[in-house]
Amino acid sequence: MTDRPLVLLVEDNPRNLKLARDVLEFAGFTVAIAGTGEDGVALAASALPDLILMDIQLPGIDGYAALEQIRRNSATTHIPVVALTAFAMARDRDRVLSSGFDGYLEKPISVRDFPTEVRRHLDEAQERQ
Ligand code: MN
Repeated sequence: MTDRPLVLLVEDNPRNLKLARDVLEFAGFTVAIAGTGEDGVALAASALPDLILMDIQLPGIDGYAALEQIRRNSATTHIPVVALTAFAMARDRDRVLSSGFDGYLEKPISVRDFPTEVRRHLDEAQERQ
């Protein structure tokens, strides 16, 4: 991994997208963005990011379907994908994790903690490999 890990952010809400991107770029990440699941799947295959942050509720295919497509493609199957969701309930967290996501981050993001949490997911994914 480079000093500036590439994070792909898939999020349809422009304000959430901008905030998360700004916070990550300020913390030294390189950020690629997609506003739909379809674009996210395509960009994952072309950019091969170090980590994907995936909103669940998206126009078109949702985050679960996008994850499935990413896992089905041998070029992207190894990329860690962390769900980015507004859900706070334990059962939603369980569904996210049982669907094959590598982790879970809750929205709204904490400007202070978000980069650390993203870095932690990157480190954990690297340890698994
Ligand atoms: Mn959304």
